[in-house]
Parts: sequence; C-alpha cells; structure tokens
Amino acid sequence: MSTALLTIDLDAIRANWRALDALGTSQTAAVVKADAYGLDAGRVAPVLAAAGARSFFVAVAEEGAALRKVLGPDVAINVFSGHMAGDAELIGGAGLVPMLNSVDQMIRHAEALPGHPFGVQLDSGMNRLGMEPSEWAAVRDVALDQSPTLVMSHLACADEPDHPMNLQQLQAFREMTEGVTAPLCLANTGGILMGPEYHFDLTRPGIGLYGGRPFEGARAVVTLDIPVIQCRDLTPGETVGYANSFTATRPTRIATIGAGYADGIIRAMGPRSHVLADGVPCPIAGRISMDLIGVDITDLGHDPEHLQLLGPTQTVDDLADNAGTIGYEILTSLGARYARRYVGGA
Ligand SMILES: *Cc1c(COP(=O)(O)O)cnc(C)c1O
Repeated sequence: MSTALLTIDLDAIRANWRALDALGTSQTAAVVKADAYGLDAGRVAPVLAAAGARSFFVAVAEEGAALRKVLGPDVAINVFSGHMAGDAELIGGAGLVPMLNSVDQMIRHAEALPGHPFGVQLDSGMNRLGMEPSEWAAVRDVALDQSPTLVMSHLACADEPDHPMNLQQLQAFREMTEGVTAPLCLANTGGILMGPEYHFDLTRPGIGLYGGRPFEGARAVVTLDIPVIQCRDLTPGETVGYANSFTATRPTRIATIGAGYADGIIRAMGPRSHVLADGVPCPIAGRISMDLIGVDITDLGHDPEHLQLLGPTQTVDDLADNAGTIGYEILTSLGARYARRYVGGA
C-alpha cells in the first residue's frame, strides 16, 4: 500500500465516552461536529448511540441532516449554530433541534417551524454564540412557555480548571437559568472533569471521546503508520530536503516516508517530532514537504517498512505541542488521502 494508514479504534472512543459518563449522574451526549473531529461521524456516532448516547451535537444543520440518516429517528441531534436563514427545510425534514442563539433566530424559528423543538444557547461570558443576559431577560418567558428541550452555554477556559473564568461563567449560567425547569447543559470535556457542579442535566464531551487533552485518562484513539518509500546512505556533509535544513554529521541512513503537510502533518512540528519503528523513535530529518518526510534511521540498524507518527507513545497532544497548536486541530486536519481502518466498535 502506498498511502499511509490511519487506524481509528472505535472501542477506545466508546471506552472514553463510558469513562466520562461514569464521572457523573447526568446524561452524557456526544459532540460529533466536523465529522466527529475528523474521524468520521458515520462510523463514530452509531458506536456511541449503541453505548447509550441519546443526544448528539453538531455545528451546522447540514451535518445534522447527514447524521440523522446514519442514526435514525430515536436520538436528539442538536445544532450549535441554531436556526440559520434557509435552514428550515433541513431542520424540519431531519428533525434537528437548533440551539437558538438570538432573538432573530427565535423569531425565524417560530415563523418557519411553529411548534418544532428547539433549545436555547446563552452567552455566559465567552462572547461567541448565544443570547446575552439582557436579551435573554427580554424573551425568556416567551421561550420557556414553548418548553425548550435544552438551555445551554459554553465554557471558554474549561481546559484550565483553576482559571477564574470557570466559576464566573458557572455563576452567570446559574443566574440566567434560575427557575428554569428545562434541562440544563454547560460542560464540554473540560467542564465534566471540573466536577459535578458543572454537569447539570446533560454533558457534551467532544475531544475527550477522541483521546485528547484535557482528559488525561483517555485511551488513545488514532494511530498513523506511514510507508517507507525509499532508503539511502548519506556521507557527512550531505543534506536532506528543501532548504538543506538537515546536514549529515556522520554516515547517515535516511528513509523517505509517504505523507506530508498535505495530509495534515503540520510543517512546523518537524524539528520537534519523531516517528517510531516498533517503538524506537527516529528523528525527522529536514523539512516536512507536501507528500514526503525524511527520517534519520541510522541508529535503527535496519530499513523498516512503515514508521508510526501517531499512536499511544506520540499522541495527538504531543504533535500539537510540537506544532504549537491543540489536539483538536491535529485531529481535524487529518488528511483525506489516508487509507482508513476502523477497528472495534461491535
Ligand atoms: C466543540 C464544542 C463542545 C465540545 O468541546 P470539547 O472541548 O471538545 O469537549 C461542546 N460545546 C460546544 C458549544 C462546542 O462548540
């Protein structure tokens, strides 16, 4: 096989959902936006539904409509971006629940789909989506009269449990939902880990399901094995790759492997990252190019067939640190060229 192989462990995703679910007594949903963080919502969501998830979250109505085809009628599919102009047919047809973010969205929803379920998203301080306290105060009674399925907000700093923003948002959410009998929902993965006062009725983890920080107890979900295309010997003074950024200082053996930044292997991670041959780390030599990476395999003593970039010992978060980004971006950048193998999930 000439393309790199991305293996996605559905058992690990299910185990991560169960572990997060076991941390509290509230219901646990699953966030599967952006195609389940790049891992394929069509494969991931049915496994979580079978494990007991009754409620799913996506970013936009189109994702929700696609997910409905996969999951059938028995689960709630909630849309963070709410009811956008032109979405009524998708929302109505697929039975999606928009999280209404503004008075404008409330009016649009009531006019286009009277009686159709909806949730409300409140802004508790992140200033991204949701109604602000004054806006909410103005429409709250009207909205609550129509029995929203959910009243939610989102935490800006939940991956930093000691950040004062967390308590500030918790307080703001409590104030805005005082006396509300509709189910309440605040916690993402980081929020779940901060403890039961953040859980309310429903939690909505994303990254933790897929093996990423801040869920340190997560099982690794993805491995990426890249085929060796060619090996060669360098004499001291010879260079590797664009801009001559690696120079051999000893007799050196270089393997050229078949993946690059076009596959989401962010160029900036090169100098700090390695690939593994049966667990033995081999440094990346020179620049990561579009489809190829040079690797110093001198100390390995043999030519491997594959080298592993991602796995239990070098995780998405390790690569994220090496590239100056977050695990979420590593996952959602994973390329379309990989051969994908799904294991477990039965
Ligand atoms: C993406 C997202 C989540 C999931 O967050 P994680 O940090 O991945 O657990 C939850 N809520 C909202 C509003 C989101 O946008």
